[in-house]
Amino acid sequence: MLKQKLPPLVAGQRVFIVTGKSSAAASGALADALEALQGAGCACEVYSGVENNPTQANCMEGAARARAFGAQAVLGIGGGSPLDAAKAVAVLATNPQLADVFAPHDVPALPIYAVPTTAGTGSEVTQYSIMTIQGGTTKKSFSGNDLFPRAAFLDAAYTASLPVQIAADTACDAVSHAVESVLTPSSNAASELYALESLRLLSRYAPAIRKGADGEARLQLLWAAALAGVAIAQTGTGLVHALGYALTCRENLPHGRANGLLLASFVKRCQPFCPQKVERILQAMGISCVEELDRWMKDVLQIPNPGEEKAAELAAIALPQPKLDACPFPAGEEVRKAIYLGR
Ligand code: NAP
Ligand code: ZN
Repeated sequence: MLKQKLPPLVAGQRVFIVTGKSSAAASGALADALEALQGAGCACEVYSGVENNPTQANCMEGAARARAFGAQAVLGIGGGSPLDAAKAVAVLATNPQLADVFAPHDVPALPIYAVPTTAGTGSEVTQYSIMTIQGGTTKKSFSGNDLFPRAAFLDAAYTASLPVQIAADTACDAVSHAVESVLTPSSNAASELYALESLRLLSRYAPAIRKGADGEARLQLLWAAALAGVAIAQTGTGLVHALGYALTCRENLPHGRANGLLLASFVKRCQPFCPQKVERILQAMGISCVEELDRWMKDVLQIPNPGEEKAAELAAIALPQPKLDACPFPAGEEVRKAIYLGR
């Protein structure tokens, strides 16, 4: 599909390809992209220096390379980390004066194309790019209309090489996106449609991951992740992501796993404030209560929580006020600690 659909979009252009260390090659997507682009008369350069949870410095290095190459388009291949980095590169390559990518700005970016090799972040359909603050305890995002990829190529062949634990972690990220999207005050009829359909697919296909998901299951998980991405493109994420960033930065927990650990506890706390929304989430997943959601997440993830002492430290980290304001319940430090402990 990539080989047929990408060439007419970028024929004859100078395409800068942004990837992680090895997933683009291991998935087979890089070879397909290079073959397609070379056949379409494109000049290509590959930047394979994106770290997991990329920093701005990491993206600036990529942007400097893209500028030197004279890039006219950026193709991100990989999980959310390379896709987000590709977006930052697309902005920074054309706007080298932009010292702080997070400062409010409305600057144009190079056209972005995305090939996800994980089924989780939905970055291939969102306007967000998320980066780790250098030496910091959390992450920060920036967004803009130009960050929406012009096209995303969802091919289950590219997730076949995913290790089981990464597939489970990333599926839980998609569940978090869909659930948080429904539970944010900015959720609406359209975003909920995408989120609930995403949950329907995730509940059906994510349990297959531990049994060796076949091509059909992997394709449905890619769709589910993208649908959840469309939902958060409209609503943003919520408290779970805000708390999860600290788990990733402090405890080095993968993004999706961090969210998965916190989700059921968050939903339990939302229930008295928005019972109908919670009911619709459970119904879409075909489960009867929040305790069952907790068991469902634990079955998929198979990871314990961080323990009392760590939970207290993590809960003390300040969160952005908008995330706290958007939370359906008061999320003070004690409550945040309990969520870290899965209570
Ligand atoms: P990731 O950090 O992109 O990748 C995790 C690991 O999986 C890496 O070691 C990667 O290898 C490997 N991998 C990826 N695809 C593979 C494949 N097909 N076969 C084998 N290994 C593969 O993980 P992610 O969970 O997809 O992305 C997380 C990032 O996305 C976080 O920074 C998060 O903040 C961000 N995010 C963005 C959005 C958004 O809307 N923009 C939403 C949610 C999350 P390599 O190092 O070789 O690539
Ligand atoms: Zn996420």
